[in-house]
Amino acid sequence: MKIGFLGLGNMGAPMARNLAAAGYEVRGFDVVAEPPEGVNAAVSGADAAIGADVVITMLPNGEILRSVAAEIVPAMSPGAVLLDCSTVDVDSARAVAALAVAAGLGALDAPVSGGIGGADAGTLTFMVGGGADAFDTARPLFEIMGQKAVHCGPAGNGQAAKICNNMILGVTMIATCEAFALADKLGLDRQKMFDVVSTSSGYSWTMNAYCPAPGVGPVSPADNDYAPGFAAELMLKDLRLSQAAAGGADADTPMGACAAELYRQFVEDENGAGRDFSAMLPRFEGRGRG
Ligand code: NAD
Repeated sequence: MKIGFLGLGNMGAPMARNLAAAGYEVRGFDVVAEPPEGVNAAVSGADAAIGADVVITMLPNGEILRSVAAEIVPAMSPGAVLLDCSTVDVDSARAVAALAVAAGLGALDAPVSGGIGGADAGTLTFMVGGGADAFDTARPLFEIMGQKAVHCGPAGNGQAAKICNNMILGVTMIATCEAFALADKLGLDRQKMFDVVSTSSGYSWTMNAYCPAPGVGPVSPADNDYAPGFAAELMLKDLRLSQAAAGGADADTPMGACAAELYRQFVEDENGAGRDFSAMLPRFEGRGRG
C-alpha cells in the first residue's frame, strides 16, 4: 500500500515515521517541516497524493484541511482513501468527506487521542467516522499508528466523539482543580484529598491518572512544573470546536461553555499558553472569589 502524508508536525511526523518503519512506502509533504526518517519528500500536496492508496492528513484546523482537500482530491486515484486525522470542526469533516466521495474516493475522519507521546509510541486511539469499506482499508494503518480504532458511524462522527470526550475532559479538569483549591483553603491535605476522592464518587481520569497536584498520585505534568502534556491552548481549541458544534446542533452545553471561557481567560489573559491544561490548579490556588 502506498501512502501520501500531509502535515508532518508534532503529531504527523512520528505517525508517518512509524508507517515507514513498518515497511510502507510513504511520501510526505509539509509547507514547513522536513519529512522524518524513512519518509520520501514530495514537492506539493498533490504530488504526495498522486498514486497513493491512502492519503493521510494531520493539519492544524478545518480551514486548512478544506483547502488541502480541494488541492489533493482531484489528484487522487479513484478508489483511494482520504484519511484525515486532524482535529477539526464537524462541518469541515463532513464537507471534505462529501467532496472526496463525490470524486469516487473513500473518506474517513479519524481524530486521535494520545498526544505526541502516543504518536511517537504508536499507541494512539482513533475515533473514526466514514464508510465501512474505507475503514477496512485503513485498519492496518490504525494498527501501526495506534492501539485502538473505534468506528463511530458516518462522516463527522469521529470528530463528534473527539469533541464530546474532550468537553468532558476540560470540564472535569476544571472541577478537579477548583476542588483542590477549595480543599487547600479548608486546610485539607492534598494527599488526603487524593486518597479519598480517587476511591470515592468524585474519581475521574483527571484525578486518578493525571492528578493536577504536584507530588500527588501518578507522575503527571504537574510534577514537571506543568510543562505539557496536553497544552491549555489545545484544550481551548477543542472546547471551542465543541461549542461551535453545540451551536450548530442546538445542544444546551452550559458546562462546556463555562470551561471554554475559563480556558480562554487562562490562555489569552493569564499567560496560560504553553502550560499544561492541568495548570488550572495553580491558577485557582492564587485566586479568591472576588
Ligand atoms: P503542528 O502544528 O505541529 O503540525 C501541523 C503541521 O501542518 C505543521 O507542520 C504545518 O506546517 C503543516 N501544514 C500547515 N498547512 C499545510 C499545508 N497546506 N500542507 C501541508 N502541511 C501543512 O500540530 P500537531 O500538534 O501535529 O497537531 C496536528 C493536529 O492533531 C491538530 O489538528 C491537533 O489539534 C491534533 N492533535 C494534536 C495533539 C497534540 O498533542 N499535539 C493531540 C491530539 C490531536
